[in-house]
Amino acid sequence: MEYPIQTEHLRATQIKITKGGYIKMFEGECLCGSVKYDVNEPISIVECCHCLLCRKAHSSAFAMGVTIKRSSFKLIRGDEQLAEFESSPGKFRMFCKKCGSHLYAYRPSCILDIRLRPALLNTDLSKFKIEHINIENRFCI
Ligand SMILES: [Zn+2]
Ligand SMILES: [Zn+2]
Repeated sequence: MEYPIQTEHLRATQIKITKGGYIKMFEGECLCGSVKYDVNEPISIVECCHCLLCRKAHSSAFAMGVTIKRSSFKLIRGDEQLAEFESSPGKFRMFCKKCGSHLYAYRPSCILDIRLRPALLNTDLSKFKIEHINIENRFCI
């Protein structure tokens, strides 16, 4: 069986074939551990957004984000802990209602994709290539 994994992604990914037959490349978890998920898609570049909305949504100087296919996101546990907030018209942010960790954002108008928050991945984030966006608002980095 052949999988569409490129060599440059292998260093940054953890690969495990599960009972369900799909490849788990990354595993993510909220701060309290109530919500856990697998990501079944290579990630090479992560964007750090310095816009005001990201700063406020994450209570941080900037927010990390990467667009993945919705079908690559597999919720392992915590469905009952998920809550969402429409932060601007047509954009919803999913978070854990127990600890507040921001899991991903999505737009119903682009239902095939989600904007994952890779800071929650249980992996070495330094392996990803970083790009800074909306830097006109940044005050650090
Ligand atoms: Zn949580
Ligand atoms: Zn932003």
